[in-house]
Amino acid sequence: MNRVEVKNENVCLKRIEEKCINCGMCLKTCKQNNDFENDCINCGQCILTCPTGALVPNYDYHKVLNYIKDTDYTVVVFVAPAVRVAIGDAFGFEPGSFLEEKLVSALKEIGFDYVFDATFGADLTIMEEANELIERKRQNKVPMFTSCCPSWVLYAEKYYPNILNNISTCKSPIAMQGAMIKTYFADMYSIDKDKIKAVSLTPCISKKYERTLYPDTDIVITTNELILMIKELGINFNELENKKFDKLLGKGSGGGLIFGVSGGVMESILRTAYYMINKEKAPAKFYSFNEIRGEHDFKEAEVDLKEFKIKIAVISKLTNVKKNFAKLKSYDFIEVMSCPGGCIGGGGQPLVSIKDLPEFRKKRIENMYVDDSKLLIKESYMNPEIQDAYDYYINKKNVELHTKYIVTKNFTNNDKISIMDDREEK
Ligand code: SF4
Ligand code: SF4
Repeated sequence: MNRVEVKNENVCLKRIEEKCINCGMCLKTCKQNNDFENDCINCGQCILTCPTGALVPNYDYHKVLNYIKDTDYTVVVFVAPAVRVAIGDAFGFEPGSFLEEKLVSALKEIGFDYVFDATFGADLTIMEEANELIERKRQNKVPMFTSCCPSWVLYAEKYYPNILNNISTCKSPIAMQGAMIKTYFADMYSIDKDKIKAVSLTPCISKKYERTLYPDTDIVITTNELILMIKELGINFNELENKKFDKLLGKGSGGGLIFGVSGGVMESILRTAYYMINKEKAPAKFYSFNEIRGEHDFKEAEVDLKEFKIKIAVISKLTNVKKNFAKLKSYDFIEVMSCPGGCIGGGGQPLVSIKDLPEFRKKRIENMYVDDSKLLIKESYMNPEIQDAYDYYINKKNVELHTKYIVTKNFTNNDKISIMDDREEK
């Protein structure tokens, strides 16, 4: 077998056989990123390196256009952080250009009734996950792994089932925001939740699979699909005036924004965890955490949260989970992202030449941090819309923000040890 197998039932991607020249590039990419063959975890990196365009995401954007045309539905879109630094690639902007407000404008032009920022969902995740980290550390139930990358969670379910108890129970930002749209948003605007279509716009094809687990989100489309929509509808992206996200589940904090880069989930959760423990803003280091920034396979640091110190690790690409697995139990908190550099390098991002990919990712990462540094609100707990959501809704109603994991495959590999059990035996 010279190429990755794409099963017919795969909801994330497909192969157009007539375009395939059997070059083997997809398999090479899969081995480099994931270190295994033919058991797809939906990261979509092969799409970005297939030289003939034979591998493509499963497109769902026509369904979105049909819902927009149907006046029975209120169609809500929420935009993942990494889309705004990649959309410009298709319209002649400099690599990594930060085009948030033009993007909002394009979505309104397409006809979405409400345009929200998935950084709201990221802020919710940060609040829940920071709290979980503190509780787990106090109870010695560490390490805790992040849970926001569905390809990572699927990989763990298949290959490392004994660590599932160590993965945060937090739903991903997109799954949380989907749940909030069908409850909080529906109630606040008095709309029947069955008449709402929640569309997630992401750099990620794996979210198409995740959506099947958390169907509050009705459709997932990628950055690429948005580009196709803009072109098919004849919208002149370059000429659009800037517009802002709608309120209620609107723009989140800088912490929510940097969820889109490797190390960003860690940095933002630590900003909030420090505050939750000490009731004061974290020191300057938590706002330019150079040890865990940038596109590197494995980053680590030690962080003083005053009540305790924690050892942290940040992993980019699943092959680096396997390479470092034996030492992972010595950390307290571990971020794992399947795609190189995090979601800015996702499989649903615009295609660029393979040799330019690292440079594009570098620029996208830089510009995410530039915007975080400019934002007034850099911490999730300071986001007034998050405060309102907890005060007026989440604390009173039963919104499902957490989840459980399932074992999807028997395991035989000796690497598969229970980190948590090891800790408890000490
Ligand atoms: S990279 Fe593309 S063209 Fe090459 S084998 Fe894979 S699907 Fe076929
Ligand atoms: S790193 Fe981000 S884009 Fe890539 S699979 Fe995970 S969630 Fe999706």
